[in-house]
Amino acid sequence: MTSRRELRQLPYPDELPRAKRSLGQNFLVDANIQRRIVDSLEPGPDDEVMEIGPGVGALTRHLAGRVRRLVLVELDNGLAARLQAEFAGDPSVEVIHRDVLEVELEDVTDDPASLKVIGNIPYNITTPILFSLLERRPRPREIVLMVQREVADRILEPEGSKTYGALAVGVRSVADAKRVLNVSREAFRPIPDVMSSVIRITPHQPPRLEPHEEIALRNLTRAAFGQRRKQFQRILRDAYHLSPEQVGELEAKLGIDLRDRPETFSPEAFIRIANSLASHRDTEAQR
Ligand code: SAM
Repeated sequence: MTSRRELRQLPYPDELPRAKRSLGQNFLVDANIQRRIVDSLEPGPDDEVMEIGPGVGALTRHLAGRVRRLVLVELDNGLAARLQAEFAGDPSVEVIHRDVLEVELEDVTDDPASLKVIGNIPYNITTPILFSLLERRPRPREIVLMVQREVADRILEPEGSKTYGALAVGVRSVADAKRVLNVSREAFRPIPDVMSSVIRITPHQPPRLEPHEEIALRNLTRAAFGQRRKQFQRILRDAYHLSPEQVGELEAKLGIDLRDRPETFSPEAFIRIANSLASHRDTEAQR
């Protein structure tokens, strides 16, 4: 194994491969930020880590030799070949040359619940990557991702804010999420158009919701934020065919005023509403 002091050299910015926009390639060239991102995952010698989109190894070089197993998932032919060659002598590093959205965590490890995931990911597939990691069970133990700053805001901002929506409810109903650091555009080559943030997502362990509750919540979230200009009670009447009386009963039972718009409800409120709707449905079905 390589010790931390023998970090693999990264090409100088002017020696980086020509970036492919279609693959969201913006290489992180600030070594201090690379290190801070990797440290925020708290990698340990017993850990299995999957890195999404390692590129030329900006994060990889701080990880290799520090964890028990490191799996690199890279779609770019040239970069995957380069990583294969670079790590050929290191049995703890494995390269999977595939689209990460087609890789199941079970392809990566026998123990997905212990897996740590890290990546400076292509921004155009941020949401599908997040959902592929979180809308499944078991979820990984820890996830650290560089995302567009606006996406970090959408995940982290409180209910009632302009950016709060389906993404915040989806992530925060199953995990704790926090911002690790903001990263300026100048830390990348080529310099991207947007600002970035690193977020750390820690899935609840054990999960707080039953699988059927998670499905009910996803359905409700989709219905609610598909029509975010409407009052929540109107959405429930339309999407769940509730009568005004049934909406009133729900409000009384939950102690929630459903005349507000969906973006003013916390993830916890969404969970309570979804569970009540599911039990209402069960009661109806038994009649
Ligand atoms: N980690 C490197 C860094 O920080 O400099 C590269 C980051 S770059 C923003 C995104 C990386 O993801 C690129 O290496 C790109 O080739 C790779 N990539 C793009 N789409 C991918 C996909 N669907 N599956 C796996 N890797 C992908």
